[in-house]
Amino acid sequence: MAAQRTSDLLPEVRDFLTSGRLGGVIDGQTVVSADEHLFATRDPGSGEVIAEVCGLQGDDVDRAVQAAQRAFVQSSWARLAPAERAAALHRLADAVEGRKAILAQIEALDCGKLLPQAAGDVQNFVDTMRYFADLSQHVQQRSVLAVARHEAWTSRHPWGPCGFIVPWNFPFLLVGWGIAPALAAGNTVVIKPAEDTPLSAIYLGRLAKEIGLPDGLINVVPGLGETAGAALASHPGLRRLSFTGSPEVGRLVAEACGRNLVPVKLELGGKGAAVVFEDTELDDTVEKLVQAITFHTGQVCCDATRWLIHRPIYDRFVEASAQRMKQVRIGYQLDRQSQMGPVVSQKQRERVLGYLQRGVQEGAELVLEGGPEQVPGRDGFFVKPALLAGSLDNVAAREEIFGPVAYLTPFQDEEEAIQLANATDYGLANSVWTTDLSRAARVADAMVAGNSWINAHNLFPHGVPYAGVGKSGMGGGVLSVLTLLDYWRSLSVVRPL
Ligand code: NAD
Repeated sequence: MAAQRTSDLLPEVRDFLTSGRLGGVIDGQTVVSADEHLFATRDPGSGEVIAEVCGLQGDDVDRAVQAAQRAFVQSSWARLAPAERAAALHRLADAVEGRKAILAQIEALDCGKLLPQAAGDVQNFVDTMRYFADLSQHVQQRSVLAVARHEAWTSRHPWGPCGFIVPWNFPFLLVGWGIAPALAAGNTVVIKPAEDTPLSAIYLGRLAKEIGLPDGLINVVPGLGETAGAALASHPGLRRLSFTGSPEVGRLVAEACGRNLVPVKLELGGKGAAVVFEDTELDDTVEKLVQAITFHTGQVCCDATRWLIHRPIYDRFVEASAQRMKQVRIGYQLDRQSQMGPVVSQKQRERVLGYLQRGVQEGAELVLEGGPEQVPGRDGFFVKPALLAGSLDNVAAREEIFGPVAYLTPFQDEEEAIQLANATDYGLANSVWTTDLSRAARVADAMVAGNSWINAHNLFPHGVPYAGVGKSGMGGGVLSVLTLLDYWRSLSVVRPL
C-alpha cells in the first residue's frame, strides 16, 4: 500500500485491506483459494497493489450455485411474504447506508473513482434496494383470467439461483441494479465481480452475513473472467443470468447460457451521440457534455462519445468545448480538488491512447490532444481529456473507447442528425439538446436505442427502464417494474368448468 497514505484511510478500510488475502463468500463462509490462484487488485491512482484476492475456480463456483440453490429451497426466503422480504432488504440497505463512507472509500480506491462519485454509487445501491423492496409489495402475485368454460389464473414464482457477472466501471452500483430485483422477487444470487474491482462485492458478502441474511442468499465468487466468470456463465444450475460488460464477452456468456437454456440478460457497451441544435443554450450544453465525458474518466457505457453539432454553431461549440476541457483538474481520486481521476488500469490507459493514435492515423483532426498525464506523487493511470473531429467512419467514432474522448461532427439538418446518430451497431443511449421541445421529442423518438435523454445526459431515475438494443444488449434491461417481473416465472393454472 506504498503510495496510499494509510492515514488518509478510514480505520475500517485499513482493517479490511490488511485483513489478509480476501476470499469469496459462499454459503455465509469465507472461501479462499490456493496460493497460485491469488491475484492483486491495484489502486488505479497510485498503481500500487492494495489487496490480494482469491481467484475462485470452477469447483468453488459450483459450490456457490449449490449454496444458492440450497438457500432457495431450504431457507424461507423464496416463500416469505413480499413485505417480509422487503423488510430484510431495507435492513441490508440500512446497513450499506450506515457504512457508506467505508464502502465509498473502498470503491474509490479500487476503481479510481472520485470519492464523491463513489459515495453516489453507494447511495444509488441503497436507493435501488429500497426501490425494488417497495415495488415488490405492490405487484399482483395472482391474476384471475376471464376464460370461457374454464377457471384460470396465473401466479408469479421466483426462479431460483440467479448469476450476476459485473464489470469494473460501476462495481457496486451495478451489483445493486442486478441483485435488488432478483432478491426482492425471492431468488438467491451468485455475484462474480470484475477482477480489477472485486473489493466492494466481497465487503457486501460479508455484510450480508453480519446482518443475519440467510447463508447462501448472497454468494460472491471473485476470480478471473475466463475461470470464475466462464464457470458461472456455463453453470446448468442457474435459473437466470445477468451479464454487464463488453459485447465480446457478452457473446461468449450468451452462448454458454444458450447451451443450458438459461435465460440471459445482457447489458453491453455503447457509442452514444449527443445531438446539439443551434438553438441550444451553448455554454450550458458545453458544460454538461464536458462533465458527462469526464465523469468517471469517460468509463461509462452510455456516455455521449459522438457529439453531433448543428453546422451554424459548430466552430463556436468546438472552441468552447476545448477551452472547457482544458480546465478539468486531473488528480488522485481521494483528493478533494480533483475533478477527474485515473482510468482503471494500465491496460485501459493503453486502450484510450491507442484509439487516439489510430483515430488520427485514419484522418481525424486532433482538436484537443489528450495523452498521458502526470500527477505529482502518484504513479497512477492518468490520461488527459481529448477531442477528435471529422468523419464518423473513423475508428475512434465507431468503436467504444471507454475514456475521456469525444468525437465531433457537424450536421446540416434534423434528418441528417438522426441518420448520423443511428449510424452505429450500438444502441444504448443518446441525448438531444435544443430549446424547441417539439423537435426534442421528435428526435428523441427517432433514435434506434434503448434510451433518449433531452437536454441532459446520464439520467437514471428508478422506474424508467434502462436497456440497450443491437450490440448494446438484450433481455429486458434494468431499473424498472419490467426488471422485477423478469425475476418471477409465470405459472398458468386451468380447470375445466
Ligand atoms: P468485460 O466484458 O471485459 O468484463 C465484464 C465481466 O465479465 C468481468 O467480471 C469479467 O471478469 C467477466 N468475464 C471476462 N471474460 C469472461 C468469460 N469468458 N466468461 C464469463 N465472464 C467473463 O467488460 P469490462 O471491461 O469489465 O467492462 C467494460 C464494458 O462494460 C464496456 O463495454 C461497457 O460499455 C460495458 N458496460 C455496460 C453497461 C450497461 O449497463 N449497458 C454498464 C457498465 C459497463
